Amino acid sequence: MLELPILSFDDTLSGAPASSASGGCASEVMLALDGSVAPRRRLPPWLKRPMPTAEMSFTSQIIEDLRLETVCESAKCPNRTECWSQRTATFMILGNVCTRPCGFCSVQKGKTEEIELDEPERVAEAAKRLGLEHVVITCVTRDDLPDGGAEHFYRCVLAVREATGAAVEVLTSDFKGNRAAISRVVQARPDVFNHNTETVPRLYERVRRNAVYQRTLDLLKQVKDEAPDMPTKSGLMLGLGETMDEVLDVASDLRAVGVEMLTVGQYLQPTPQNLPVERFVPPEEFDWLGDQCRRLGFKLVSSGPFVRSSYHAGEMAGVLGRK
Ligand code: SF4
Repeated sequence: MLELPILSFDDTLSGAPASSASGGCASEVMLALDGSVAPRRRLPPWLKRPMPTAEMSFTSQIIEDLRLETVCESAKCPNRTECWSQRTATFMILGNVCTRPCGFCSVQKGKTEEIELDEPERVAEAAKRLGLEHVVITCVTRDDLPDGGAEHFYRCVLAVREATGAAVEVLTSDFKGNRAAISRVVQARPDVFNHNTETVPRLYERVRRNAVYQRTLDLLKQVKDEAPDMPTKSGLMLGLGETMDEVLDVASDLRAVGVEMLTVGQYLQPTPQNLPVERFVPPEEFDWLGDQCRRLGFKLVSSGPFVRSSYHAGEMAGVLGRK
């Protein structure tokens, strides 16, 4: 469901230079929100991002006026300056509280909220005001709802399409493997069906607790079985302790269930409470991995430090002629 993460717009974002000639990253200490002192690694030079600018205000005002949530903000996405300045955002529906304790994600956890029945129209209105031609909708995981929020997701896709005529990409939760719920979202006929794998199966317990690797593969297979012409997409984070062999095994598994589009990006610790970064993967390794994945038969692979599931999603889908 949720976006590949994440990095806060704090002082590390300005991109302090790596302290060694080899490009390694020094540790620094920082005060965690709970008052403890925790080590945090400085960002390498290739992870510099611009600071927020006034150009973002058009997008942020619409989001605020329409009382919408975005994964851009909730997951502290490092691309927010770029995307919002270009009047693009990824809407997060079903509230801003998640029922899963994923170690990588900064979205609030705890008591969930009532579904807001007018949210589909508000998302549609925001997409219209932003002039989006490709709308990405994601959600918090709602294990507390019998259908995981699938019916609401369905309504959001239809409302956006009706109001804007835009292509719609969904980035869903796993709906706990509820096949009827997954089918309901497929019935909305999104232009791209995205569900993130996030990491390699060995790390699921630590990174994506309460999720099941096979369940993710099963979901993607079900979508492809039910709608063979609907492009399926998935995403992975690097830097959590995985090996490249494990990543390539996951990529092979995704190809085996028909996934055509793959995103691979660097995990960045959004808050001190989230998992630390094990390794900053250099851009050349992302390039190498992208080539390897293309050889596995993906139609589109986007692999780079700042790649996220919805980063330039419209352009990616446009290559497949889905825009
Ligand atoms: S990459 Fe996606 S989540 Fe991040 S700012 Fe852009 S649209 Fe938002």
